[in-house]
Amino acid sequence: MSRISYVNGAYCTHNSSVIHIEDRGFQFADGVYEVFGVINKKILDYQGHLNRLFDSLNEIKIKSPIHKSAYVFHIKNLISKNQIKNGLIYLQITRGVASRDFKFPKNAKPSLVIIAKNLPDDEYQNTFQKGIKVKTTKDLRWKRVDIKTINLLAPVLAKQYAVDNKCQEAWLVDNEGFITEGSSSTAWILKNKTLYTTPLSNSILNGITRKTLIRGLKKNKLKLIEKKFNIKDIKACDEAFITSATQYIMPVIRVDSHRIGNGRVGKYAEIFRKVYMEAVKLS
Ligand code: PMP
Repeated sequence: MSRISYVNGAYCTHNSSVIHIEDRGFQFADGVYEVFGVINKKILDYQGHLNRLFDSLNEIKIKSPIHKSAYVFHIKNLISKNQIKNGLIYLQITRGVASRDFKFPKNAKPSLVIIAKNLPDDEYQNTFQKGIKVKTTKDLRWKRVDIKTINLLAPVLAKQYAVDNKCQEAWLVDNEGFITEGSSSTAWILKNKTLYTTPLSNSILNGITRKTLIRGLKKNKLKLIEKKFNIKDIKACDEAFITSATQYIMPVIRVDSHRIGNGRVGKYAEIFRKVYMEAVKLS
């Protein structure tokens, strides 16, 4: 069965899906994107991701090429056409095709691409049981990373640096030595039964998984403090985690050369995973 993708109004076989060479996404990274997690054919946090997509579009002044209510139709179609059980939906909108020129084109129609991807059923659970390793590196991104743009060179380099150091994620460090977030995830540490994560600002992405987990923590009366943390805090923490639309809650067992806890997945990982899964069902 061939994969099917959505490109500017048409469903195409994945390998024959094409975008023009003068698409502004290709030339300027002039666009935004979203990733939706899919579990048991259900889209997680659909409204949260869709609203953030529209916030991102608004921030960079791109008009949605289709009505807000039409996205769910195409996403569900792709889940069905590609027989996605567990996986993800990647959705990208750029300012469209125009002769290369920095200023906004007058008549370009924004490009919309939607891709569906299956993930192996046991992949998440296997990684969750082992936990992941994190490498810290300088946060070299621009100053508006709260907008989910396709300008991802700095996170690409950070992630590759992590992989080159036998780690699965990079935690980005600002000029004051605080962790902003992961290259493609939100960063968390746990100390004395209290979770810590960086407060929202222009320097981090407002993670939808973060938001849903926080809602679940409140409901379960678990303690959370939105406060920056640094390497010293990491060295003293009991457990650590990342969250994202496709990794949900993922325990971290090592940051650089520091073992977290006893170097194995701690007991709060499962608690937070349950809290998140319960909260996401309600959204
Ligand atoms: N921060 C960054 C930089 C990311 O790329 C992501 C993944 N989109 C996240 C945080 C987590 O966001 P979400 O929970 O909405 O996937």
